[in-house]
Amino acid sequence: MTSAPAGDRNGERRAAGRWIRGVRSLARWSLDLLAPRVCAGCGGLARDRAALCTVCRDDGFRAPLVRPDAVEGISEILAGTLLEGGARHLIHDLKYRGSKVAAFDLAEWIARLAPPETGPEVVLVPVPLTAARRRERGYNQAELLARELSKRWGIRVEPAFLSRKTFRGSQTRRGGEDRRRALAATFVPGPRFSASSIPVLVDDVLTTGATLSACAAACLHGGVDRVHGVCAAWAQQEGGVLPEPRALGISRG
Ligand SMILES: [Zn+2]
Repeated sequence: MTSAPAGDRNGERRAAGRWIRGVRSLARWSLDLLAPRVCAGCGGLARDRAALCTVCRDDGFRAPLVRPDAVEGISEILAGTLLEGGARHLIHDLKYRGSKVAAFDLAEWIARLAPPETGPEVVLVPVPLTAARRRERGYNQAELLARELSKRWGIRVEPAFLSRKTFRGSQTRRGGEDRRRALAATFVPGPRFSASSIPVLVDDVLTTGATLSACAAACLHGGVDRVHGVCAAWAQQEGGVLPEPRALGISRG
């Protein structure tokens, strides 16, 4: 007769957990209601449930479409905007607060562009975090972004397509090539990997492209034919030349 009380206790614990979560979401909801949302771009009043005010959001839509520099191992690379102004604030909110409204606005900007490829074998693959980092944050910002993009592009998300192991050894003492190789070794095919898929890697910021390249290498080694990439914002390298605006497949204003 020990299982019934244990079951009761578990039930009580679950009920208490539900109750606490309920109170928390109610508190969050009333805070949202009382404190108007502040625009992440200009500090003004944001739209209902959005991270940016209408002006900042439209600025994003007016921002030139950019074509990032080629990334090794990636067939086609897209970016929603440059990493500047309101985009910088949105990325911060997405990365460090797991803000879904930031993911929403960034995905709106990206979805001005058509996906690199469509078809039943195309999947959105968020760049994975290590399990430890994921636990610590409670979310993967690339996955939040991929989920919003998925709604707009109609492409499914495969968060377990790749796995990420912990980076071993000092990063600072390694040379560029050495570090690149070590980074590449941290990405491996995950439980949902499929060689017949065409992965579109999703990340928040594109800087040198080393992370995307490392993910692409893992996919290509695993046997996929080609890999694409999409990032919310491109941290264009200093002194770089703004490429030709990319007017391909714009789906919205
Ligand atoms: Zn604003």
